[in-house]
Amino acid sequence: MSEPTSMDVLVSLSKRRGFVFQSSEIYGGTGSCWDYGPLGVELKNNIKRVWWRDFVQTRADMVGIDASILMHPTVWKASGHLDHFTDPMVDCRECKHRFRADHVDALPWVHYCPATKGNKFTIPAGEPCGHCGQRRTLCPQCGKGELTAPRQFNLMFKTFMGPVEEDAAVTYLRPETAQAMFVNFDNVLQSMRLKLPFGIAQAGRSFRNEITPGNFIFRTREFEQMEIEYFVNPNDRVDGRPADEYWHDRWIEDCMAWFRRYGLSADNLRLREHERDELAHYAKRTVDIEYRFPIGWSELMGIANRTDFDLKQHAKWSGKSLTYFDDERKEHVVPFVVEPAAGVDRALLAFMADAYREEEVRGEKRVVLKFHPELAPIKVAVLPLLKKRDDIVRTAHTIRADLAKHWRVVYDDTAAIGRLYRRQDEVGTPYCVTVDVQTVGDSERGEAGDFRVTIRDRDSMEQARVPIAELGAVFRELLDGAPWSQAARRYPAPAAKASGP
Ligand SMILES: [Zn+2]
Ligand SMILES: [Zn+2]
Repeated sequence: MSEPTSMDVLVSLSKRRGFVFQSSEIYGGTGSCWDYGPLGVELKNNIKRVWWRDFVQTRADMVGIDASILMHPTVWKASGHLDHFTDPMVDCRECKHRFRADHVDALPWVHYCPATKGNKFTIPAGEPCGHCGQRRTLCPQCGKGELTAPRQFNLMFKTFMGPVEEDAAVTYLRPETAQAMFVNFDNVLQSMRLKLPFGIAQAGRSFRNEITPGNFIFRTREFEQMEIEYFVNPNDRVDGRPADEYWHDRWIEDCMAWFRRYGLSADNLRLREHERDELAHYAKRTVDIEYRFPIGWSELMGIANRTDFDLKQHAKWSGKSLTYFDDERKEHVVPFVVEPAAGVDRALLAFMADAYREEEVRGEKRVVLKFHPELAPIKVAVLPLLKKRDDIVRTAHTIRADLAKHWRVVYDDTAAIGRLYRRQDEVGTPYCVTVDVQTVGDSERGEAGDFRVTIRDRDSMEQARVPIAELGAVFRELLDGAPWSQAARRYPAPAAKASGP
């Protein structure tokens, strides 16, 4: 098992190549907020697009919604977020620094040691002072202030609806997308005439005022979720088991297979069953898919069996019935729900970490992001071998414009060809097209062009000579998942090694 890619390497590549920037960087940055750059937004859109295609578009039992971020405040009372979505916090009475009560002991602490005339030391987390033997009792940050008793701090972002900042106008930025699927349950059921089991999917932003966010885009205050609420009839049985338990296992398998399909290696994925005492109050069973991130094994997504808790809560608080009429049994039932909930930002981090490779090619280091072609931000780069030849440049621009009707395709002539290839490798572009003298011919010497270009495969660095007229068909085949060896077999390799690997 290879070592995970380090976070520093990913942060630096992300900034250098336009994947992720620190938010408001010119003002010193905003805490734990990140901006996706030109390549980051393509990658993120691709992740959301394939997720939607695989879990909504192609499935007869799934529909989508796109709900507003601001919801009725009672939603959060009914869901339990107002009362339970809290972390215990302690404050320093001197420096006012705020800590999560359960994290204070995991911090290194500042100590003014009485045994050494009050000299200042920073002592590793959990250890006593080597001089006086004291353990930490004061604020670990300043070493002077006493800490308050723990208080519960709600993680929802509070804001005001309308022009008056008064208590009655308080509302919240949603801390999860899930609740919109529950409160729209009946609207979706009636408008789409659905039969159980069926699911409602949504991808969108959520907000949590985390006290100790961090680790790049792993934990941020504003993030994007891809959530599914899959409703099942609790009275049904599938394969001799209660329907909710059957579907819970199915979703765990399907989600795991989905991450594998788009490039995460099996070695870096595992399932983790929640213990009884860590289950959320509404959950019958929860399983996390964990990924071996640069920070260690951590949650990539969770798949929870939320039972009928949410629909019952919203029925109670809204006074509206949120049930399903079971035709067979002639009775109204409250469906159970299985919730596969994934974070887009976390998925993006995992896909990047897993795709990153450093290889040695002819004594030189090659950095390459081996993205699945469907996720790669740029699908094809068109490169002229000689930028001084007008006909070569013109042909390259025409090819780019043609291919760009279907995919994200770029043109680059700002360096020598070897360098241009390395640049595309580093951002995970699966294919390059090189236009050279052979393509356009040499009219002064009376040589006709062959109207073929060299296409190059990122992973094998192999090349093939393909007629310009067939480029669209070849890339459709390759980008649909055909292996390079199969597509390239029909074409000759370039005669001269003029263009290098
Ligand atoms: Zn302090
Ligand atoms: Zn001491």
